[in-house]
Amino acid sequence: MLQRFVLWGCVSWVLLGLGLWVGKNVYDNGLKKQALQRHQHLTKAARTMLHEHLMVSVQDTQQLSAVAYELGFLDQPNAENQQKLTQVFLNTAAIYGRYDQIRIIDLDGKERIRINNTNLGTFVVPEHKLQDKKDRYYVQRGLKLTPGQVYLSPLDLNKEQDKLETPFKPTIRLVRMMKSVTGEPAGLLVLNMKAAGMLNQFIELFPKGDRAMLLNAEGYWMVNHKPANEWGWMRDRPDLTVASWQPSLWQQLQSRTAGSVYLDGSLFSFSWLDIANIYEGTSSARYVYDLGVVSDLQASQWAILIESEKQRWQAAAIYHKPGFRGALAAVFLLTLLAVYLLIRNRQQARQNAALEREQLENFKDLYENAPIGYLTLTQDGRISNTNKRTLEYLGYQREELVRQKSLAELIDAESFEQAHALLSTMMQDEEHHRRIRIKAKNGDILVMSCSVSSRLSHERTLELGRFSMQNVSHQARLEQQLKELAHKDPLTGAANRRWFDELAERELARAHRVGMPLTLIELDIDHFKKVNDTYGHDAGDEVLKALAEHCQNSLRTTDVLARFGGEEFVILLPDTSLEQGTHKAEQIRQALGRLRVIVSNNIEIRFTVSLGVATLSEAHGSIQALLKSADQALYKAKNSGRNQVCAAGEPGEKGNFEI
Ligand code: GH3
Ligand code: MG
Ligand code: MG
Repeated sequence: MLQRFVLWGCVSWVLLGLGLWVGKNVYDNGLKKQALQRHQHLTKAARTMLHEHLMVSVQDTQQLSAVAYELGFLDQPNAENQQKLTQVFLNTAAIYGRYDQIRIIDLDGKERIRINNTNLGTFVVPEHKLQDKKDRYYVQRGLKLTPGQVYLSPLDLNKEQDKLETPFKPTIRLVRMMKSVTGEPAGLLVLNMKAAGMLNQFIELFPKGDRAMLLNAEGYWMVNHKPANEWGWMRDRPDLTVASWQPSLWQQLQSRTAGSVYLDGSLFSFSWLDIANIYEGTSSARYVYDLGVVSDLQASQWAILIESEKQRWQAAAIYHKPGFRGALAAVFLLTLLAVYLLIRNRQQARQNAALEREQLENFKDLYENAPIGYLTLTQDGRISNTNKRTLEYLGYQREELVRQKSLAELIDAESFEQAHALLSTMMQDEEHHRRIRIKAKNGDILVMSCSVSSRLSHERTLELGRFSMQNVSHQARLEQQLKELAHKDPLTGAANRRWFDELAERELARAHRVGMPLTLIELDIDHFKKVNDTYGHDAGDEVLKALAEHCQNSLRTTDVLARFGGEEFVILLPDTSLEQGTHKAEQIRQALGRLRVIVSNNIEIRFTVSLGVATLSEAHGSIQALLKSADQALYKAKNSGRNQVCAAGEPGEKGNFEI
């Protein structure tokens, strides 16, 4: 049991574990998908936000350029016009706050107007501090523009006097070629856009945990969750690139414009955008006319890169929740319990089955080897099964009885009535026993004590019958003997006085009923005392036996010979008249007179008898009265010299006669 439990417990846990593993993978994939969706959503928002910022700056540049044109500064750069334009620039820088420099540079590359916006405030740079910028790349680039175009510079850090300004100041320069009234190029409007606000907004767009990065075309970071990794190309740190940090990721980035990749337990999503394509996704893009943006293709390629660590997007997973873990532990324990119960049930079922089998075997054994004979009967009384004892009783082989014979074929004709009576009780609940004579195969008749019972269907129709038999032949014989002992005189076998009385009463009633005559003979041995005295008591017994045997042999079966005591016998002759009775008495007298009884020592004894005969008449109210008449006739025979027959007349009448 323990071994089984451990085995199946382990198997169930392994299966459960496998199921959970598969389930977790499916669930994790769902989470990953959710994270990816979030990435896509955030990427789109970030692109829009970046474009929106740049579009606004381009619009500002165009607007300020238009103002400069309207104020006529480029055509008439007098002090008044300069003053007016400087004021507009001052206001713009102060109000918007997103430009730290607004300048006008002439076609020779010299600063003509410069507004600085610093922590200290917005102010006009005095004329003597204006610089020559003709070597700066944005001036070079700007001078190649046709009027109306706005050049977007790459995003980098501001340098002052060829040194990186600290703290770092991410800057994009917007350069507009302005025109004179004749439409000729007239000078450059240069706005230094403070990109820090835009980049901060970019970072804030992403919820904590997701790492938002902004890359330039070479894979340097402009935004990184670790600021130390930013601006590598400006700081002579060629190692601070995605290519050296995650080469395979960089490969992916270079092969597609957007995508996702799962690397080292982190989910990365990236999307390239062309920063100069300022209309993309912005709210007012569809309403504005061409703002004339130009940029260097390489410099305008940025990439948004988002990294979510596995722990991040699995943080809210259900399997981290204590309740779920508790439930899981409960499931594991319950599985063990279920395994235990299943094993126990199976074991019990096996035990029960074994017990049932054993019981069935016992029942079969009980049926087969029962000390009494059994027959199972079909509805029509045919034998469908039997047991060993029946076969022993009847001497048949099993196959000679089963499905071959019916019960009726085994029953002796004398018992048909009994058998029928017994079978009619089959459907009753009470138990009935009958003695039935059953025929064995060899023709012997066995007296059996039989009983029947039945199995009924729900509709109370007979399904099968059960017939049991117990051989009581021996007992029946003993009973017969006992009956004879109770009824007969042990020495001679003649009926005793009690049995005689019973039979005589019966015959008397019958004689009265059917009106047939009934005659009685009383017989007494003459001088029997002498026989005893001469030859001994045993010899006397032999004589008594010989007498009884002879009488019995000469009588009909319906006649009754009874010994009334000593050497006195009575013979009852039904359907016999006085004359016939007297004749019979005479025959007996003569025959006994001729009888020679041989006793021990070859001694031969002869004897005579006296007989009195009486016939039932209306005067006889009872057997006693008839006996009395016969007794009187016998008395007369004795008195008349013995060895003779006397017949009685009517009772009380003297006219008895003798032969
Ligand atoms: P009677 O001719 O007058 O009948 O003379 P009896 O001698 O036959 O008559 P009695 O009545 O005087 O004698 C009967 C005798 O029968 C007496 C007794 O010893 C004998 N007797 C009675 N019963 C038995 C018995 O069972 N066996 C033997 N051997 N003798 C018996
Ligand atoms: Mg006598
Ligand atoms: Mg006598």
